[in-house]
Amino acid sequence: MTVCRQSRGAVAHDDSQLEWPGAGNEPQFRRALTNWFRKHQRNMPWRDQPSGYRVWVSEIMLQQTQVITVIDFFNRFISKFPTVAKLAAADEAEVLKLWEGLGYYRRARQLHAAAKQIVANHRGEFPESFEHVLALPGVGRYTAGAIMSIAFDRPFPILEGNTIRVYARLLGMKANAREKQSEQTLWAFSESLLPKGKGARDLNQGLMELGSEICRVRQPDCPKCPVRAWCRAFAEGIQEKLPVLTPRMEYQSRHDALAVVSRNDRYLLRQCGAGENWTGLWDFPRVTLGEPTAESRRVSLEDQVAARMKTEFGLKLAVEPSTKRLRHAVTKYRITLDCFRGRIEGRLPAGARDFAWVSSEELGSLPLNATGRKVANWVLAASSKK
Ligand code: SF4
Repeated sequence: MTVCRQSRGAVAHDDSQLEWPGAGNEPQFRRALTNWFRKHQRNMPWRDQPSGYRVWVSEIMLQQTQVITVIDFFNRFISKFPTVAKLAAADEAEVLKLWEGLGYYRRARQLHAAAKQIVANHRGEFPESFEHVLALPGVGRYTAGAIMSIAFDRPFPILEGNTIRVYARLLGMKANAREKQSEQTLWAFSESLLPKGKGARDLNQGLMELGSEICRVRQPDCPKCPVRAWCRAFAEGIQEKLPVLTPRMEYQSRHDALAVVSRNDRYLLRQCGAGENWTGLWDFPRVTLGEPTAESRRVSLEDQVAARMKTEFGLKLAVEPSTKRLRHAVTKYRITLDCFRGRIEGRLPAGARDFAWVSSEELGSLPLNATGRKVANWVLAASSKK
C-alpha cells in the first residue's frame, strides 16, 4: 500500500507518498513475522494465559518500564490480586506497596480506580469492547489496542516505542516520527498490516518483539530480520538513521533535601497528598532547595534545609550534616537528593495531620517512593547494627 501524508506547510522531508516495498504482500509479511515470533518469543507470564485482566495489568506495568523488571512485579501483583474484584476491593496502600519500586505511581492508582469502575459497570468482568476498554482510567489508544489484540485476538492497531521504530524503518520515513502527521501515518500503517479475522495477537506481539530484539535502536540485526525483504530503510542502508525523533523534553536539574527524623525508635514520615508526585505514598520530610544565589551560598546547606522545612511544613528541625547523596529522575527533572539527619525541636505543629511517627516495622511495610525506600533501608540496616 501507499501511505499518504497530507502536506502541512514546510517540512524537513517530503514523505507525502511513502511507498512501502511490502505493499500488496501483507499476507506474506504477516506469515513471515508471526512464524518468527512463534519460534523466538521470550517467555512472559502474561503470555501464558492472555486474559483481558492479565494483559491489562502487564500493559500498565510495561509503560515506562522494561519487561525484565516487570516480570517479578507482575507475578507478585497477580498472585495477590488474581481477579479484577480482588484488586477493586484492596486498600490503595496495599496496591501502592506492591507497586513500590516500579515508579510512576499514578499508574497504580489509575489501575485501582479502573478495577472499581469495572466492578461497578461490568460486574467485575473485564470488558471486551474497544470503547469500554478505552474508557478505563489510564488506558489510551495504544493500551486499548494492545489489550484487544493480545487478549482477545481482535484486529486493532498499536503504536508505541518499538513499533514506531519498526514502522518508520519499514516505510523509510524520514520526517520526524513525533509529528502529528507522522503519527497518523504510522497508525494508518499499523492498521494496514492487520488481518481481517484472527491473527492480530501474534502479529502485534511479533512487531513489538521484533523492535525489542532485532530492530533495535542501535545496530539493528537486519540479517536476522524476518521481514527485511519488505524494509525500505534496509534497502536504502539508512536503518540506523531512522526513526527521526526530536527530543521530547528538556531536562532540568533540581536540588532536593530529605531529613530522617527519629524519636524514641520511631521515624517521622509524611503521606503525600493529592496533586503531589507520589500521592498516597509515604515519604521522609523532603523539600526542594532553590537555585543557589550569592546570598544562599553564605548559608550552610543544613540551615537552608531547616529553613525550608519550617516554611514548607512548619517543622522546627536541628539538621545535621548530609550523610548520603542520591541522584534520580522524576518527569523532566534530574535530581540531586541530599539526605540529612534531623532532630525535631518541640512538638509536631498543630495541623500536621499528614505526618506520623512510625515504628521500624511500619517503615519496612508502608509504601514509599524509590528513593524513600533506599533511605529507609539504610536507616533500618543502621538501626539493626546498634
Ligand atoms: Fe528493522 Fe532491519 Fe528488519 Fe528493517 S530489516 S525492520 S531496519 S531489523
